[in-house]
Amino acid sequence: MEKWGASLYGDPCDACGFEWSLTPQEAIRIVEELPARFRVLLAGRTGYERHPDLAWTPAAYVSHVTDNLRNWAERLAGARLSGAVDVPGYDPDLIAQARHYNEISPAAALWSLERAVDAWVASVTAALEDGIALRHATRGVQRAEDVARNNAHDGHHHAWDVDRILQCA
Ligand SMILES: [Zn+2]
Repeated sequence: MEKWGASLYGDPCDACGFEWSLTPQEAIRIVEELPARFRVLLAGRTGYERHPDLAWTPAAYVSHVTDNLRNWAERLAGARLSGAVDVPGYDPDLIAQARHYNEISPAAALWSLERAVDAWVASVTAALEDGIALRHATRGVQRAEDVARNNAHDGHHHAWDVDRILQCA
């Protein structure tokens, strides 16, 4: 089994301080605030800054958070709308490579994130109401509330990465 959540990152997360005990509603609130949070972080910056230890720019992290939200919103929708609960792993680095994250305009990345968040909130809210649980190929059962926490952590953690890049730049 693949480690995920608190067992992978620590509780709170060793790096970004995310606390895994939060409620699904608190996780949704964190995701809802991500577009404004990244917009504030990137205000007055190019979005193409680099950190010596990190492969992605601030804008690339925004694109990663967007694609992660879209992927999980779609998976929960699949389970809810058609009973497709079995989901495979996916490789975020391959998506980054295919979409050339570091070359996406930061303004476009923020535009995409806003739309992905709206769709994610709708999908997660409906999945929570319906008590949806996915069966992940390598992580095991992922309830809608686990997905909400994992995705909120991903956004929170990468906002912390973006802050690190911008402080170093
Ligand atoms: Zn973290």
